[in-house]
Amino acid sequence: MKILVINCGSSSLKYQLIDMNREYSLAQGLVERIGMEGSILTQKVEGKEKYIIKEVMNNHKQAIKLVLEALIDKTNGVISDMSEITAVGHRVVHGGEKYSKSALIDENVMEAIQHCVKLAPLHNPPNITGINACKELMPNIPMVAVFDTAFHQTMPKIAYIYPLPYELYTKYDIRKYGFHGTSHKYVSAIAAEKMGKDIKDIKIISCHLGNGSSITAIKNGKSIENSMGFTPLEGIAMGTRAGSIDPAIITFLQSELKLSIEEVNDLINKKSGVLGISGVSSDFRDLEAVANENERAKLALDIFYYKVKKFIGSYVAAMGGVDCIIFTAGLGENSPLTREAICQGLEYLGVNFDKQKNKVRGKFAEINTSDSKVKVYVIPTNEELMIARDTEIIVKSLK
Ligand code: ADP
Repeated sequence: MKILVINCGSSSLKYQLIDMNREYSLAQGLVERIGMEGSILTQKVEGKEKYIIKEVMNNHKQAIKLVLEALIDKTNGVISDMSEITAVGHRVVHGGEKYSKSALIDENVMEAIQHCVKLAPLHNPPNITGINACKELMPNIPMVAVFDTAFHQTMPKIAYIYPLPYELYTKYDIRKYGFHGTSHKYVSAIAAEKMGKDIKDIKIISCHLGNGSSITAIKNGKSIENSMGFTPLEGIAMGTRAGSIDPAIITFLQSELKLSIEEVNDLINKKSGVLGISGVSSDFRDLEAVANENERAKLALDIFYYKVKKFIGSYVAAMGGVDCIIFTAGLGENSPLTREAICQGLEYLGVNFDKQKNKVRGKFAEINTSDSKVKVYVIPTNEELMIARDTEIIVKSLK
């Protein structure tokens, strides 16, 4: 079975075609600048040259049409006909409280995704656009929605209710949802496998550290806490996002600096985090490169490490212990410096870190000493494969 995985952003689209018989990614692609000048599609296939198409793409339908053409292209493609695609799995950021699992897309599911637009105004609209475009181009192919929020629906009320008037939850759905669920679920399952334990018997802290970062406490296989909240802005300081700050700062910016809602939103989402502190970059590679001579770049990194460490400590308290800490995503997989700085001083929790084993990038590794009570793993995430797996399960159940 071949499954097309689509992850639609407002002006970009990532895709992969995965052969589920081998769980092998046949092609990976990225379409950028949809609806803008200079639209471009880049497709990678193992053993072939990069395939680049520069063509006007005014909307997502045109982009997906080109994706299908690239996949069946005689020279650069990987399938001979569209009918080889059995199903499409869509990444959908927000499923609200309704979805704790992936779902076959029908009218009800579309309505629910639409209902969540107010909770994820930047993410759900392009997800809807992508699904509609695929439905038009592939009307008879089943489509599945895989929600970023679904894995966190097991969080208990004490974790997800904010100390605000309760009606804001019942009337306006204001609560913690948590994000990156697909990634946390994927890496935690691998961690349990590597430990040779049933996930139902262990306590895991999963650190998904990239441009956007979140940490999850997974107890007995269930997410009980995630550092992100009502939106992906809460939690640790990120590339450009502030993470958790005193909410009074927001009203101060509005009343004293006379910033508008849009300006405040822009400031805390796009101009803060390690970019805001350092004034240098949101990319951790740039910060690592200049940290020795640039005090603010070093400060930005130190604040980031400190915040992650504090979350780890609080999640150990929330779960009553920890058996395994996972590092994943762009930064977690590729930055030995980050992992070492975060794990330093956690010996009292039973974390004995091995600096030698930590010299690894982008592949699975156990980076604790052999006598460490707590396992520390680097696990490359694979959200696309996870989406494809869920899609396969649902499509097989239709027959
Ligand atoms: P996104 O949240 O956009 O999915 P990724 O998970 O791809 O982000 O992570 C991207 C980030 O990972 C980059 O901004 C960069 O800061 C960091 N990163 C990637 N490779 C390295 C590396 N070799 N060293 C340090 N940081 C890295």
